[in-house]
Amino acid sequence: MTFIVLTLFPEMCAAVMGESILKRAADQGIIHTDFRGIRQYSTDRHRRVDDYPFGGGTGMLMTVQPLRAAVDAVTRDYGEKPHTIYLSPKGRVFNQEIAKELRSYDKLMFLCGHYEGVDQRALDLLVDEELSVGDFVLTGGELPALCIIDAVARMVPGVLAGEESYSNESIYSGLLEYPQYTRPAVFEGLEVPAVLRNGNHGEIAKWQREQSLLLTAQRRPDLLKHAPLTEGEIAMLKAHGLYPDEA
Ligand code: SAM
Repeated sequence: MTFIVLTLFPEMCAAVMGESILKRAADQGIIHTDFRGIRQYSTDRHRRVDDYPFGGGTGMLMTVQPLRAAVDAVTRDYGEKPHTIYLSPKGRVFNQEIAKELRSYDKLMFLCGHYEGVDQRALDLLVDEELSVGDFVLTGGELPALCIIDAVARMVPGVLAGEESYSNESIYSGLLEYPQYTRPAVFEGLEVPAVLRNGNHGEIAKWQREQSLLLTAQRRPDLLKHAPLTEGEIAMLKAHGLYPDEA
């Protein structure tokens, strides 16, 4: 799967993607990244990529010309225009379901805004969808793009050890993940639950499921509405006073 990022800061993207699991995946050719500096596509003699907004307002806007040229160059290089996402606090709020949707493309292109954003015509002409990473405002679209790339790339076969590495994690599984422990068995008086050390896989699985349900009921009762629960699990949550009325 290929991730193309149109950005004013290609080195920033390369630095983040040049570490850890995603670097290994790129080195092995499982994923490909292409970080394109937008400035190189500007026809302005000073390579300017921003200008004052018509109608006034604080701050600068990214101009449409270099963005059009960058998208055209990518389209030429790849033989087609990839599905194109503009990162924006005005977009649909990204989540695991959207990550799964995006996984179905073999190429994705991300347009990172900066300053006050981009000329609306760039969005009208070049962008297929707008995604936000949450109800807060950042200085640029690079961190949101990298966040989305990370979430999508880790579902590409071969990036992690196996599908189970992500499919039983929080949110993806529909529940929050149970607490996990590693050695030592006791640290500052806190002991790893005995059930996890008794080697009985049936009991361990039962404990993990119960912990997942309790944690989800406490922190994200909204998720329980969609989780398939057995009669016994509903009774267990009710016994803890944690079964949401509307679930
Ligand atoms: N003036 C814009 C507005 O009010 O919607 C905000 C511009 S923001 C300072 C600069 C850039 O950061 C945006 O163009 C966008 O690409 C990116 N950005 C900021 N917050 C974001 C968020 N929550 N999700 C995705 N991208 C974001």
